[in-house]
Amino acid sequence: MPRIAYLNGQYVPHGDAMVHIEDRGYQFSDGVYEVTLALGGRLLDEDRHLARLGRSLAALDIAPPLGEPALKVAMRKLVALNRLPDALLYQQVTRGVAPRGHAFPKRPVRPALVMTVRRFDPAAVAARQTQGAAVVTVPDLRWRRCDIKSVSLLGNVLAKQAASAAGAQEAWMVDTVGVTEGASTTAWIVTQGGEVVSRQLSQSLLPGVTRAVIADALAPLGVRFVERPFTVAEAQAAAEAFFTSTTSFVMPVTSIDGQTVADGRPGPVTRAIQAAHWAHVRAATGRPQSPR
Ligand code: PLP
Repeated sequence: MPRIAYLNGQYVPHGDAMVHIEDRGYQFSDGVYEVTLALGGRLLDEDRHLARLGRSLAALDIAPPLGEPALKVAMRKLVALNRLPDALLYQQVTRGVAPRGHAFPKRPVRPALVMTVRRFDPAAVAARQTQGAAVVTVPDLRWRRCDIKSVSLLGNVLAKQAASAAGAQEAWMVDTVGVTEGASTTAWIVTQGGEVVSRQLSQSLLPGVTRAVIADALAPLGVRFVERPFTVAEAQAAAEAFFTSTTSFVMPVTSIDGQTVADGRPGPVTRAIQAAHWAHVRAATGRPQSPR
């Protein structure tokens, strides 16, 4: 069965889904995106993802391509058509097609909506969660509106490539204050005093959906959440470190720039947060997998 993509209202074979060469997403990165999981056919944290999509669109003055109810129907239909109960759903909205010119087109253009799905294996994530991940640090080269989930990802691409070249799984980007976030994840540490720290939201980082889910889960765990910057040195000396995202869930960090974090194994606070996140996933989607 061929993969099916959604392209401006049509459901088409993936290989036939083409966009115009003057799509402003292609020429200017003038667009935004979301990545949402479908597990057991149910969309995880859908309303949080759609709220962030709405914020990203509003920040760039791009009209929503569909009303929210119609968008939700299209998302479900695409997942069902691909017969993938566990799927990663990619959504991208660009300002649309117009003759090339930096400023917004004078004539109204229809925003372009593209959605694709691909297989997602929660059991593979659970297995990786027991291993943890190596992180390298790189300068944060990105623009100053990293709170917008823009398709302009060159800084993130270069950061992830640096991780890949170093044999690491993630790159943490560092500005003049400290770690901002991972190339495609939110960065966290656990202090020697047991506090969980992640940088406060600002225009320097993406408001992660998983970050918000974890923030809600910490108080019931009896763990204090402190939103403040931290440096690479503090992270290397921390009791634990981890990163979070829609696709990596809660991933322990075992080393930072080659320096082992604590004993190099997933720590107790990280494992408790993993378990709380899996409980959230199970409650929202009915998926049975859990890391242990
Ligand atoms: N930070 C960046 C730069 C990202 O690209 C992502 C996810 O793609 C995240 C953080 C984590 O966000 P979420 O938890 O919503 O997946």
